[in-house]
Order: sequence, then structure tokens, then C-alpha cells
Amino acid sequence: MPGLAVKAFGYAVAPDLATALTAIEDPDTLVIAGGTELVNLLKEGIVTPARLIDISKLPLGGVELRPDRLRLGALARMSDVVPVVASDYPVLAESLLCAASPQLRNMASLGGNLMQRTRCPYFRAEVLLACNKRAAGSGCAARHGENRTHAIFGWSDACVATHPSDFAVALAALDATIRIVGPGGERAVPVTGFYRLPGDDPTIETVLGPDELIIAIEVPAGPHTRASHYLKVQERASYEFAMVSVAVAVIRDGDVVTDARLALGGVAARPWRLSDAEAALQGVSLADTPRVRAALAASFADARPLDGNAFKVELAQRAVVRALGSLRSSAGGLS
Ligand code: SF4
Repeated sequence: MPGLAVKAFGYAVAPDLATALTAIEDPDTLVIAGGTELVNLLKEGIVTPARLIDISKLPLGGVELRPDRLRLGALARMSDVVPVVASDYPVLAESLLCAASPQLRNMASLGGNLMQRTRCPYFRAEVLLACNKRAAGSGCAARHGENRTHAIFGWSDACVATHPSDFAVALAALDATIRIVGPGGERAVPVTGFYRLPGDDPTIETVLGPDELIIAIEVPAGPHTRASHYLKVQERASYEFAMVSVAVAVIRDGDVVTDARLALGGVAARPWRLSDAEAALQGVSLADTPRVRAALAASFADARPLDGNAFKVELAQRAVVRALGSLRSSAGGLS
């Protein structure tokens, strides 16, 4: 690859969690599971570890549908999870099915999906370009460059990238938490708080410490999870990242909303909950599109589109309206 040096690295398989945690105490060691993202980053020269520790043999692949919650092991494969959650958590199944390709979904782990890095073309370029995320202090070529796919919420002058995970958006709408283990023991972090906005340092993308591992994802059960839907707007029909996406979960009395959860993807460095719109939708009939649109506007007042992506503000609102309409016309949307 032009301009990039080849660097050899070591490789070992972790026989247990303790070994994996010890291995990542070394900052030159990175974790590999399905490898569908890390191998790209290695090939592109974005990461240059001295060693990889393979955690794919750890017993973290279980999927449990419990009465009070869904528990997904971090190493569960995307394609294996879909049939298990399709009935009770359709938004999760749909977000997984519209991601990547069948071959990738057969390999990719849920934890790896959450740890994907941005698809910003400057970040992924084969030659080094101005990119604060890739080389701190080098600038942001996208800020006034090609930025039609970039953020409209939560960006900073240091970085305007979005997060590419569809699954994370669906999890955010369902108030899921990520279970993490590290030297200090186990902790839980809401998906909505897992990703950091770029601020002054876009190299730090999550609250996951370098010596910590994701071990599971937990999703609280409730009547809203069945009444859920994921809609992805993309520039081609498959194998494409979201221009905008939306996850909705709504409880209704007839057509009237009594509880709404809405999250957007493709608009920020993290899944973007529309909390003001959720509150404004209370008591609104989904059949009343003007009132639905007015409720959504509450969450878009602070949208800050870039030079090339003002269209996303309207596109995102139309996507939410369409997703809510799909719930209304499907059995899954019944209260
Ligand atoms: Fe790099 Fe972020 Fe700017 Fe893209 S948006 S060039 S990832 S700093």
C-alpha cells in the first residue's frame, strides 16, 4: 500500500478471560474476535499493534432471553442473534440484518460491531490526510471538505465524524447497557453513554478503558420492545453504511402514543436519542402527521449541519415519520 510500512505483529489465543485481561495491560496489544473490523484497520495502517490477543475462544457467545431482559454475549455472531431476537426485539434483528453482508455477519461479533470506527473517508484513506482522529493535531479535512455523510449533532471543529454501527442505534433506543470487565471488576455503561463526542480529542471514542473488555450487552424487557422497528436510509440497497437511520420503539393506545423511544444513526459520533421529541410525542396520534412532525422538531432545533449535509436534517425527520408509520401499519406496532 503506497506510503505505508509493513509491520509484523505477534498473535496468541486467550484460553480464558484472565489471560486476555493480562494481555491487554500492554498498550501495544489489541484484541481480535471476528476480525471483520480489525483486519481492515490493520490493512489500512490505522492501527499498528505489536501483538494481537484472540478472544474468540472465550465463552462469551451466549444469548439468553430472560423475562426481565435480553442478555447478549459480546462474542455472539451477528447472524446467530437475528433469529433469537426477531420476535421480541425486532428493532435489534432488523439493525443486524441491514448491516454489512451475510458473510461478514457470519463472522462479526456483537462487541466488535460496537467497537467499529468511523467510515469517514479521510480517516480510512490509504495515505495519511489531515485527520485528528488518526493523527492527533493534524486537522480535520472533512470539516470544510467532503462532509455530506458526516455529523449534524454533537460535532466539534476537531472532528465531524459519525459512528457507523446500526446495532448500537437500536440498542440505544431500547436503553441497553454494555457490561464491561477490567482490572477493577465488572461495570455497566448505558449504550447512550458509551460513545464519547469528539470534543478536543477525537482519538478517544468510547469510555472503554484500554485494559477493559466488553463481555455482554443487556436490554431491559418491556412491551415496547416488540413494537419496534429499524429503518436505514442508505445510498445503495445493501452493504452500505447509513446516511441516516432510525430506531423506534413505541407503546400506543390505538394510534395515540403513550411511550416513545427514538434514536438516530448516521448523525453523530454516537447514537443520538431524540429525548425532546419522545416527550413531545406523548398523546399524539401517529395518524396525525403534522403533529408528529411538530413533535420531532423539538429535537432538531439544535441540529448543526455542515456545508455538505443540510439535507440530513430533513431526511432524518422524514425517516422517523416513516419508521413510526411502519409501526402503525404492522402487527408489531400494536399496543
Ligand atoms: Fe478525521 Fe474526524 Fe475529520 Fe474525519 S471528521 S477527517 S475522522 S477528524
